[in-house]
Amino acid sequence: MKAGRMRPSGKYVTVLLVLAGLVVVPSGVLGVERMKFRPGFNLFKPGQDVQLGREAAGQAEKQLPLLNDPQVVQYVSALGHRLVSLAPNNTSDYVWQFKVVNSSDINAFALPGGFIYVNRGAIEAAQDEAQIAGVMAHESGHVVMRHGTNQATKAMLAELAGGLLEGLAGESGSFTSQVFAKLGGFGIGSWMLHNSREAEKQADEVGTYILYHGGYDPHAMAQFFEIIQKKYPQRTIQFFSDHPVPENRIKDVDAEIPLLGPPNQGKTDSPEFASMKKHLLALPPPPKAKSTPSAASGSVSPPPAPSSRLQRYEGEGFAIRYPDNWQAEKTQDGIALFPAGGMISGEGGDVSQAYGASITHFQPSGQRGWGLVDATQQLLDSWRGSNPNLHVLKQTGANVLGRPALVTLLENDSPLQGQKESDRVVTLRQTDSLMALVFVAPQAAFDAYKPTFDAMEQSLEIR
Ligand SMILES: [Zn+2]
Repeated sequence: MKAGRMRPSGKYVTVLLVLAGLVVVPSGVLGVERMKFRPGFNLFKPGQDVQLGREAAGQAEKQLPLLNDPQVVQYVSALGHRLVSLAPNNTSDYVWQFKVVNSSDINAFALPGGFIYVNRGAIEAAQDEAQIAGVMAHESGHVVMRHGTNQATKAMLAELAGGLLEGLAGESGSFTSQVFAKLGGFGIGSWMLHNSREAEKQADEVGTYILYHGGYDPHAMAQFFEIIQKKYPQRTIQFFSDHPVPENRIKDVDAEIPLLGPPNQGKTDSPEFASMKKHLLALPPPPKAKSTPSAASGSVSPPPAPSSRLQRYEGEGFAIRYPDNWQAEKTQDGIALFPAGGMISGEGGDVSQAYGASITHFQPSGQRGWGLVDATQQLLDSWRGSNPNLHVLKQTGANVLGRPALVTLLENDSPLQGQKESDRVVTLRQTDSLMALVFVAPQAAFDAYKPTFDAMEQSLEIR
């Protein structure tokens, strides 16, 4: 296809994903010990966080290799429980369960209700106990501030506003119980992805608070995030996609610390950490991840993995961030953002995008009063001319930056021989044209690109 696109559909909920980065979680935290850490508006009960989190954890553990080494697991679990005992807004509803994922990617994530996963890579990258405690305290912050169900709440309200839940309203049973049932099927991707920057800021505040009260150097969390992003850009892509970096992380944390109270002992390390880490480093290496993009055609080598550092592209009426090892190139009706090797030249000399993203402005016909669905249909029809095997898999209403949007998942022939591609197309109205944000990758590589695409989509600004 001549523009970009993407995503395996099914278990991921489009609306949640689109919305998440755009939702502003009121932080409500202006300072201090008498700081009120208050979760945002939420239609769920904390017990439902647990129920949803447990379900997602079950799915996660089918996909993730867990490290079952007793010394490491006991250390992480004991540390985790100690930390969350200091968390604000903790309730007896949460289950607090800490597990170690046997992956060298530097990552950690929290599911609603207290299911926390820390990657082996994160523990190995931590130089001392305060750093790994900082990561875990931050994840606990997402749980006690209930960011997962807060975002789900907002997504539901947006769907409701968009009339997309009309069907539900007519069915029996209470509204929330039906939506709850629907959410159960959303799966892990919906919960662990796309914390907004505001949610990140709040998780930082809680994380720093917990570190301070645990007697740790309260700078450790923010410092560790800075270090790993600089030092291991390739191994932190998923983490910084799920946890976008707040604008002034270090500054905000530095400002919070004096408000917490007099300086604490500022401990950084423990003999237990040192001994656990030594033991961990001596264990057999983690299983090889199978999500590396690969060009099955053999003749084309796959592009280098996208950098987790994003640069900004200023377009006409919009801005978006994209990996700093990609390039931007103007196209006939917009811009293409892609890695080296992401554009494939065809026999006729035309160029098609195999990897990356594009933004296109499309002028639907029928001028006055065209609807989003109709305009999107016209755009897809216009693509079909040069993409005869393009199929729509799924189309969902969404809300992007406060505007009604449509998310269309497509399957198409990839310009890479013999391969199929996935496309994710987000369309919305911009003044008098249709704006389409398209993500594309070969189907086999799509999952590996997903964190990058998600981060890009979240960064979209429209003027
Ligand atoms: Zn986070």
